[in-house]
Amino acid sequence: MERGNPFFAGMAKTALKAYIRNRLKEYAIDEVFEDELISDLIAQKHYFCSVNALRPSHFRKRFRPGSGENGYDFEGLFPTAQWRKVSWTQCLDPKTREDIIEDALRNAVQSIVSARKAVFPTCEKCGQKPSAEVDHVDPEFAEIARQAIDTMSQQDMDEAISRFDWWKEEAFELPANSPALLYTLDAHKTAQLQAVCKECHLSNAKERRAARKKVGS
Ligand SMILES: [Zn+2]
Repeated sequence: MERGNPFFAGMAKTALKAYIRNRLKEYAIDEVFEDELISDLIAQKHYFCSVNALRPSHFRKRFRPGSGENGYDFEGLFPTAQWRKVSWTQCLDPKTREDIIEDALRNAVQSIVSARKAVFPTCEKCGQKPSAEVDHVDPEFAEIARQAIDTMSQQDMDEAISRFDWWKEEAFELPANSPALLYTLDAHKTAQLQAVCKECHLSNAKERRAARKKVGS
């Protein structure tokens, strides 16, 4: 017996994932195919398609440059005769409104973060390896995002997300006057950032977790 409750078509998430992955292996890149189960899954569980009554009728895998041998974009053909990238895996683990807003906030500070890396091409912590990422030392990004999202009601979030033009395939952005966005940008004026290598980023996070445990005990 498989663990987990049936999620869709009588299958739990793990079984469903494996089942779809196997099905998709049967098709070559650019081959157009139909699959009732995936069509239904997207129509019922995709965060955008489900609320807008969109059911893709056909699918294809498209080569994605730089994605390696097994990487591809998955596209659906929608009733408007439009092909669009659509994630079937997101149907299994749908993003919450908060996740969507947090992604938008993260994108919005990308230039600030890149600037730090440009100024410190070598890891600020170990001074050895090239810097690969930027750590929000204090406060952590998740904390900034949480405070920012706290400025929004569920209705504000719904409104912001509903204005998003899914067909454009651009990353979701908050309007320039959004209080959550302004809070996040403002917090970055004083937030302590550190350009770090991957290993030092992990060890920073580990140290913070240990410190939190100490406080909590
Ligand atoms: Zn380092």
